[in-house]
Amino acid sequence: MDDQTSHISVQTLAAQAFSGHESVTKALVAPIHMSATFLRDPDNGYPAGHVYGRTDNLSVQQTQSLIASLEGADEALLFSSGMAAATSIFLALDRPTHIIASQVMYWGFRSWLREIGRYGHRVTFVETSDLDAVCAAVRPGETGLFWIETPSNPLWTITDIAAIAEIAHACDAVLCVDSTVATPILTRPLSLGADIVMHSATKYLNGHSDVIAGALATARNDSLWQRIRKTRTHLGSALGGFDAWLLMRGIRTLDLRVRRQTETAAILAARLVGHPAVAAVLYPGLEQHRGYNVAVRQMSGGFGAMLSIRIKNGDAAAIAVAAAVTLWKRATSFGGCESLIEHRASIEGEGSPCPSDLLRLSAGLEAADDLFLDLHRALAVAG
Ligand code: PLP
Repeated sequence: MDDQTSHISVQTLAAQAFSGHESVTKALVAPIHMSATFLRDPDNGYPAGHVYGRTDNLSVQQTQSLIASLEGADEALLFSSGMAAATSIFLALDRPTHIIASQVMYWGFRSWLREIGRYGHRVTFVETSDLDAVCAAVRPGETGLFWIETPSNPLWTITDIAAIAEIAHACDAVLCVDSTVATPILTRPLSLGADIVMHSATKYLNGHSDVIAGALATARNDSLWQRIRKTRTHLGSALGGFDAWLLMRGIRTLDLRVRRQTETAAILAARLVGHPAVAAVLYPGLEQHRGYNVAVRQMSGGFGAMLSIRIKNGDAAAIAVAAAVTLWKRATSFGGCESLIEHRASIEGEGSPCPSDLLRLSAGLEAADDLFLDLHRALAVAG
């Protein structure tokens, strides 16, 4: 982040998105750069520094700069998916490393981490909301990376980023935070001591369910970061120009969307507590949630737009409820304008801590009353 943007709010940075460097037309909205290759000058050089599209692209760079400013980062990189972003960090480690990772996290990434032994690394999955358990898992001289997701999928467990940063840095390890659910609107992990923040930009950053993308943002441009950048070039996993442009366009309304969706999730959570068909509501904004106090401290402006409910009559009843809604869309993913409902155990793989009676809810931009009524009607089928 440059000094000129460091004092400007995330809301303003997102709304304006493009800082207006298009010199030919003075366009207010960024053009889309699609060229896969670039002309050399007569002196054999590349005057603008652009050589080949697999390494970089101006639309990608512009959206990266925006994300870096939102996260208060030194630099950001965009990838072809959240998974490509997350895995690149591990593929860029320079030696076999012991990794401590959240027990509750996006199942697809947990499933990849479970097989990380093939790259020479070892992983210990820990309940990272339990700081004693995290300290006990540290292997002095071996632990080199902490991976936490907060709020974490699909129980919305809260991990104390500042406390884990202290533990990680005491053993010279790097702390990476999957902040997809919090977004830079609600939490800025780098300001709490994290070293790298990751997003499935497919979710809130884009916000329209029409781009698959991943982002990393770093506190410093160090040797690990340079290896990550090189890994992206080697694997050819950078985001394309058009998707980067769509992502920038989505980010312009990030603040509005996240705040409205968060407000709706809080209303739904409050109304679902005590519902006769619901055994539990999992939402970090509820005082009875285990992570509530930490969430109050590290999230500002709300607790996110994701919540889960557990259905009293078990998994068959939960699946029946997901089938009975009409407004909610029955699909995986989250963070778009439309509200989504999903029976998570049907999609999560082996070793998942997700209870089989759990429905994950992604609050969209529809009216909270409409969403509640639709769900309330559907819950009647749960018996
Ligand atoms: N992190 C979280 C929290 C996710 O929910 C997901 C996908 O659902 C990912 C990472 C992976 O992102 P992508 O699907 O963009 O590869």
